[in-house]
Amino acid sequence: MTSDFAATKHLFDLPPGITYLDGNSLGPLPHATAARVARTVTEEWGQMLITGWNRAGWMDQPTRIGDRIARLIGAEAGHVVMGDTLSIKVYQALASCLELNHGRRVILSDSGNFPSDLYMAQGLCRTLGPEYSLKVVAPEDVAGAIDDSIAVTLITEVDYRTGRKHDMQALTARAHAKGALTIWDLAHSAGALPVDLKGCHVDFAVGCTYKYLNSGPGGPAFIYVAPRLAAKARPALSGWLGHEAPFAFDQDYRPGAGIERMRVGTPPILQLAALESALDIWDMVDLQDLRMASLALTDQFIAGVEAACPTLTLVTPRTHSERGSQVSFAHPEGYAIMQALIANGVIGDFRAPDILRFGFTPLYIDSADVARATQILTGIMARNLWDRPEFKRRAKVT
Ligand SMILES: *Cc1c(COP(=O)(O)O)cnc(C)c1O
Repeated sequence: MTSDFAATKHLFDLPPGITYLDGNSLGPLPHATAARVARTVTEEWGQMLITGWNRAGWMDQPTRIGDRIARLIGAEAGHVVMGDTLSIKVYQALASCLELNHGRRVILSDSGNFPSDLYMAQGLCRTLGPEYSLKVVAPEDVAGAIDDSIAVTLITEVDYRTGRKHDMQALTARAHAKGALTIWDLAHSAGALPVDLKGCHVDFAVGCTYKYLNSGPGGPAFIYVAPRLAAKARPALSGWLGHEAPFAFDQDYRPGAGIERMRVGTPPILQLAALESALDIWDMVDLQDLRMASLALTDQFIAGVEAACPTLTLVTPRTHSERGSQVSFAHPEGYAIMQALIANGVIGDFRAPDILRFGFTPLYIDSADVARATQILTGIMARNLWDRPEFKRRAKVT
């Protein structure tokens, strides 16, 4: 397949005059989504009422859409299910792994992981008791820290701050050699680069859909369990829709077949409709093409900014195999610089303490957008346009 990124760009509603380099945090709105959601609201909910669960296929949506996500992350069909938020899916995966690998009590993660992943691990350890602990090491020290005390590794493939990418294949093999299970968080991988869960023999994976996959604010997360574990993994969050027979209304929980057991409660049908419409665009895209386009965009931005803005320090790896689909620069006035950029029509974001973060999404960002963003950033840096009080006032969401 040859992906036509000029065509996919026209399938998004991008406000005029804005260069949007924050699709790694919240993907933009596809044209087709508003009508698609409206149809689900008026024709399905409005007309079918409760019969929509059967007639509109609402009840099967979490696994049906899970299969479409599976293609994007190299997973086997029938082993991905949608629901809840990513933090919840992290908790579920961790709890199942600790139970599967009983006898071991240490979760290993790294200091580049997103705080919510670490918080969920801390909360679970507190519930399980003082023998359980979370060990956090520097990203480059993960491989060396996997020893035979580790029950499970909880690693986010691409670091949300730096864009540094772990070697999924090598770390998974290392974990298995030491008897540990693996959970990969694909928050900054799904829709950002090719992922091969099956080929890497990953045990569990989780991710969100409102970033690179463009499902909209609050879009549901996904969870993958390897086929060899799907009938063994026991869900800690044993909700009724993960039960073997939800409508038997039994008093006691019995896990559903395979990945179905990772469902918890009522699926978010309106958000799933938005996600389904966004996934239609992904059907037009080959992930190897996406990766090549993404690396060309990030290379172009790195070269342009480094040539023109000597006070910005690149924190994203230069080596392609170690880079996700974002570029980050450090600067002590990073917050104010980002506010000045946004005021001038280039939207990225800021991550404490000093990181300017830019996401590159070939579906709707092209080389001309990168050139424009580079030029505006250069102007701001050359004339210290960020040095104004209104750019230094912190908003609630950065
Ligand atoms: C974005 C992100 C989250 C957010 O979790 P939610 O529960 O969806 O708010 C969690 N983990 C990682 C690694 C992320 O990048």
